[in-house]
Amino acid sequence: MVTVDKIEKPDAEWKKLLTEKQYEITTRKGTEVPGTCTFDEVHEPGIFQCVRCGTDLFRSPSKFESGTGWPSFYEPVSTLNMVEQPDMSLGMVRMEVLCARCGSHLGHVFDDGPPPTGKRYCMNGVALKFIPEGRL
Ligand SMILES: [Zn+2]
Repeated sequence: MVTVDKIEKPDAEWKKLLTEKQYEITTRKGTEVPGTCTFDEVHEPGIFQCVRCGTDLFRSPSKFESGTGWPSFYEPVSTLNMVEQPDMSLGMVRMEVLCARCGSHLGHVFDDGPPPTGKRYCMNGVALKFIPEGRL
């Protein structure tokens, strides 16, 4: 996506559009319980999109098994589709990853991922939706 059309809605509006869990994580910056993501079963080609606005975030080949219990990716579709900002919560300095289009909290990115990027995008599965290639 070259130009990002921002979607801005008040929290109350998102609350109406999302499930309770989606709202808690994407809007209130929650964290899903590790190991509860169902994407571990996904092995077909496709794309992971923002659950709130459908922005393309990751292609399935960039997904890897990190052992953390959260879906992990080493490379985004485009760095323009997401925003990174420092997160000082929990007494740690982490880089928070947000959807560039709607500001949804997606997860965090770390520098201990596999080659070629060395990045580990540690995502909340609830913040993503998987679209199989045939349905794109
Ligand atoms: Zn979004």
